[in-house]
Amino acid sequence: MGWRRFLWTAPAGIARMEDSSLISHEVYSPDIAGVLIPRHRIAARLDELARSITEAYPGGELTILAALTGSLVFLSDLIRRLPLRLRVDVVRVSSYPHEATASREPSVLIAPGGDLPGRHVLVIDDILDSGKTLELIRGLAMEAGAASVRTCVLLAKRRDDLPGRVAADFTGFEIDDQFVVGYGLDYGDLYRNLPDLCLLRDLAGGAGR
Ligand code: 5GP
Ligand code: MG
Repeated sequence: MGWRRFLWTAPAGIARMEDSSLISHEVYSPDIAGVLIPRHRIAARLDELARSITEAYPGGELTILAALTGSLVFLSDLIRRLPLRLRVDVVRVSSYPHEATASREPSVLIAPGGDLPGRHVLVIDDILDSGKTLELIRGLAMEAGAASVRTCVLLAKRRDDLPGRVAADFTGFEIDDQFVVGYGLDYGDLYRNLPDLCLLRDLAGGAGR
């Protein structure tokens, strides 16, 4: 099932172009169909997520292993809400090379640093689609000798066609199976600096699932 079919059937209640959040990024306006999740809803959900994560680590120590580049904005907003003795490591995994819009077999471009053995690790990614990326990174942390490994994503796509897909331990929002940009998520390495999670009006060529 291709995501493109859903571009024009965005969820009810979607904020449209008049949303003031888009005005500061007028340069992208022709490309954006609308805001899926506005920044204030993201912020409110991050407060809740941060509380749940903090409660899950009563020992007060946590190492975050974040998947670059898409989780960059989520990571920076989330860690400032976590009153823990916190370390941050990063891994770079290629899932959507160039302008692809369906994930491929992910491959590790930058491996985690050497400080994972014995640590309680929380893997963070922007969005869960097939689950392959999260599983790959979870495996890296376990192989490295982490004391525990949990996972956290800002978004999880509803994939009824993949009933056995892994779930993250912490999920910000579940969304329909559609391609999203903004708040760190890109298409062709653009749109990461949009403050809201947005839907693209159209995509030039490229792959489908
Ligand atoms: P998975 O391995 O779960 O199939 O794909 C997850 C990865 O694909 C994420 O880390 C993200 O980089 C990318 N991805 C999946 N869905 C989207 C999407 O809707 N928009 C963007 N920009 N990236 C996505
Ligand atoms: Mg990614």
